[in-house]
Amino acid sequence: EAKARGRSTVCVFAPEMEARLRDRLQMEADLRAALAEGQFHLAYQPIFALPSGERCGFEALLRWNHPTRGPIPPDAFIAVAEETRLIVDIGAWVLRRACTDVGALPGTPRIAVNLSPVQLAVGDIAATLAAILGETGIDPARVEIEITETALFTGEQRNRDTLRRLKALGVRTVLDDFGTGFSSLSHLRLFPLDKIKIDRSFIHDMAEHADSAAIVEAIAGLARRLGIDTTAEGIETEEQLAIIRRIGCTEAQGYLLGQPGPLDGDRRS
Ligand code: C2E
Ligand code: MG
Ligand code: MG
Ligand code: MG
Repeated sequence: EAKARGRSTVCVFAPEMEARLRDRLQMEADLRAALAEGQFHLAYQPIFALPSGERCGFEALLRWNHPTRGPIPPDAFIAVAEETRLIVDIGAWVLRRACTDVGALPGTPRIAVNLSPVQLAVGDIAATLAAILGETGIDPARVEIEITETALFTGEQRNRDTLRRLKALGVRTVLDDFGTGFSSLSHLRLFPLDKIKIDRSFIHDMAEHADSAAIVEAIAGLARRLGIDTTAEGIETEEQLAIIRRIGCTEAQGYLLGQPGPLDGDRRS
């Protein structure tokens, strides 16, 4: 038995695994330092209402400027932040920063913030958000909480309960990256959502594949009948914009219309 354990120990500390573990521990230490030393900032991508084309809000996107490695995209560090639960503190920072920045703009643009399922499952995000709403004085109806369908429909019941408590604060709930997870339109009955963001993979395929356009059209049509807004994500071409206008999506977001960047208070809301 000791021999077997010995073998498995050798296996656990195989060199490449050891390297991965070291990288992960380093990343965790770096993330802690990043939060303490202010290495994070937010990029804001504008979102536009259709058919008017007026800018109606922004999505806050987390950016990390690492002191030696330079800019690191969120997809490269959110997972470690989730595993270590650092996302709870990082996510609270994002919410506070975003509500402060956008709350100070003229007009009443909305601010969308991405929430990790870990933030729903651990700690007390409702208390955190309530405090931030109070501090910043932003109208809760201007705040949108984006969550992915995997977090909402394949995760714990607790995630849905927590999101309901957020919604009770008066904020809007948004299903992000719709179509990429275990999505089923029937799931939409399980949780009161204000908006669905149709994943950019569908938007990307629409022009060449009639099937993708048909799916987006069906989603937009059903959402409309349920009184739910639909944002088309990842609009990169005029052709895609024309299609989602025709299909009747209520909002558009993408590089064609606006890149993530510093908040520009001068742009009309
Ligand atoms: P997401 O919430 O779906 O955000 C949209 C992503 O698509 C952003 O990537 C944005 O820069 C990118 N994007 C926008 N328009 C276009 C386009 O026209 N074409 C293409 N190809 N991409 C476009 P980003 O900023 O790298 O963020 C990636 C993901 O990281 C986000 O996906 C979100 O899931 C996560 N994330 C970002 N900020 C936060 C945060 O504060 N907290 C949490 N938990 N997750 C975050
Ligand atoms: Mg999002
Ligand atoms: Mg998305
Ligand atoms: Mg995403």
